[in-house]
Amino acid sequence: METFEEHYASMRTAIEKHMPGVDMALIDRAVEYANRKHQYQKRKDGSPYIIHPLAVAQIVAEMGLDLDAVLSALLHDCIEDTDASHEDIEKIFGTTVAELVEGVTKLTRANFSTSEQAQMENLRKMFMAMSKDIRVVLVKIADRLHNMRTMQYQTPAKQISKCRETMDIYAPLAHRLGMQRIKWELEDLSLRYLAPKEYDEIMSYLQAHQEQDEVFMRTIQERISQRLTAVGIPNKTYGRIKHVYSIYRKMQAQGKTIDELYDIYAFRCIVDTIPDCYNVLGHVHDLFNLVPGRFKDYISTPKPNMYQSLHTTVIGSQGIPFEVQIRTWEMHHTAEYGVAAHWKYKQGTGDGSEKDFEWVRRLLETQQDSDAEEFVQSLKIDMFDDEVFVCTPKGRIVSLPAGSTPIDFAYAIHSGVGNAMIGAKINNRIANIDAKLRNGDIVEVLTSKSAKGPSRDWLTICKSNQARTKIKQWFKKEKREENIVHGRSSFESEMKRMALPLTALTDGDLEDHLLKKLGFDNWDDLYAAIGYGGLTATKAVGRIRDDITKAVKAQSAEKQQLSPLRTTPEDPAAKLNRHAVNGVIVEDIDSCMIKFAKCCAPVPGDAIVGFITKGFGVSIHRADCPNAQGREDPKQAARWVRVRWAGEEEQPFETTLELDAITRDGLLLDLATVMTTARARVKELYGKDLPNGRSTFTVRFEVKNVSELESIRKKLLNVRDVTGSRRGQN
Ligand code: MN
Repeated sequence: METFEEHYASMRTAIEKHMPGVDMALIDRAVEYANRKHQYQKRKDGSPYIIHPLAVAQIVAEMGLDLDAVLSALLHDCIEDTDASHEDIEKIFGTTVAELVEGVTKLTRANFSTSEQAQMENLRKMFMAMSKDIRVVLVKIADRLHNMRTMQYQTPAKQISKCRETMDIYAPLAHRLGMQRIKWELEDLSLRYLAPKEYDEIMSYLQAHQEQDEVFMRTIQERISQRLTAVGIPNKTYGRIKHVYSIYRKMQAQGKTIDELYDIYAFRCIVDTIPDCYNVLGHVHDLFNLVPGRFKDYISTPKPNMYQSLHTTVIGSQGIPFEVQIRTWEMHHTAEYGVAAHWKYKQGTGDGSEKDFEWVRRLLETQQDSDAEEFVQSLKIDMFDDEVFVCTPKGRIVSLPAGSTPIDFAYAIHSGVGNAMIGAKINNRIANIDAKLRNGDIVEVLTSKSAKGPSRDWLTICKSNQARTKIKQWFKKEKREENIVHGRSSFESEMKRMALPLTALTDGDLEDHLLKKLGFDNWDDLYAAIGYGGLTATKAVGRIRDDITKAVKAQSAEKQQLSPLRTTPEDPAAKLNRHAVNGVIVEDIDSCMIKFAKCCAPVPGDAIVGFITKGFGVSIHRADCPNAQGREDPKQAARWVRVRWAGEEEQPFETTLELDAITRDGLLLDLATVMTTARARVKELYGKDLPNGRSTFTVRFEVKNVSELESIRKKLLNVRDVTGSRRGQN
């Protein structure tokens, strides 16, 4: 079991070595504070919890970070796991430390697991974006490294998920931040749990060959350093076996076993100056045979993550190829600690945030590499604050413009979600729908089927164009339905007030004429315009009143000549064009929105009535529903409409055809015969001779539907001397 004393001592050694002159009293105060707060907690292996923060602080010290970073490493789990508060820590250790701890806590709380490959980059970006200060990322990486080192105490399921997350997030971040050493360790530790068989295979091979490898590496190392010492170049040269994960990857990529693999050895030669690097290169190429095409100059062209070195691969006298990396001490530190190395060499006292990023950015922006661009991009998110990353409760990450609200989030998920939104939860707490989202927030949209849709204020609240467009679309579309229903009802009541027959509106040639006069392509467009308020019903009716009156007069005059005056029932032909919506046909209103009233839940077969609602089309009630009794009320009467089930057997209705013909004897009888053989139920059939040797015939009869009407019309047109037909008034 590991003890507090051991860990404290080795942390202290690391601090004294890497951060000389630091205020140890303050560090002791943080150790004491964390120890007190975590006193009742134990690690999985039974040792006191404080060992973990001590180990993390040691890693942070070894990275060469500053005092604030070490203090926040010691306190990093206090807010999450104990009763310590931000204010508490701020009072004792200052604002910076409190904010760093807060930042680490946020990363601890966020869920970075996902199975979707496409989300990885977003995850990493969110990770960066959530960490206002690069030190937060570094402390979090140190935290993860220690957890990985002590992974054997976790359950197998937890081992797998943590290792995946490490491979997906932490190792790539460590790589981007140039921290080779930590990246390698994270990868090797993960591999141990993710591919235990292969890991063991490689480890046992390396162990079996350890002696042999050491002899080989010592021989090469001695040859190089002897030569360099002889020519007066101070150097530190050593050999190593490449790390397990990189061997594993080479095996996978090349489909080879480890003994077939060449190039598992790497030698490092660290010197004082850049000219020395190139001198060493010359000597190495002089001592060994060069493998062509393997030389890389990362000194003149650094890698995106700031890595600099000369790489070359050569073959020694034993015929074994190996890589030699040549670099200065400064390059070496940068390669080992990456961004963190910056603190080591930093002059003066930076504040460890944006200004330090500038330094990284300037370095990176000189590169043409696309990977560099991507890296800069991921840092920029932090620096320019133009994006915010939040998650769904299931862990899907959604990126939104900074300043976005739950409304933006809802519409980013789906317009249906936005339209049905009635509220939102942020981090499991009910929040206002205009709340500003912050990086890492878990947002849940509360929806309801009875939601009334977006409100107009949302247009000013939301931040993303996507949400704004979708809300506008909703208004346009929803309004149209609503407008048509309202427009139609006010148009028709104006028609009634002026004593104009509604049948005129669907009367063939007259219909076209009226629409043309009104300037609309169809009635729905007119109704929508009236409903919207672009045109009043009075004005619309006024425009066509005279035409209708004239047409009606002409028609009835014509009819009066033909037959005794009779009252026309409501035009049943108007029913012909109605379309069923949800299995219901609304008389007088075509294709409007239909919903079934919850109070009485009508089913096909019930006697039903419809109520024109404000904004949701027609609501269908059972005729005997208590809520439908209001239709007796004269104030409401106009909003009740007749409806019927589409599948219901239609009542036969009367229709009238007028036929043009060349005058001849017996034609009336021929027509009567056709009607009889068609089994049409004739109500009236008469003819009238016109002056020019022509006649017209009028036949009024019952049909069930249009197709029956059309088939009879066809038969009548086939009668000799019949030249044309048109639908007439009953
Ligand atoms: Mn921790």
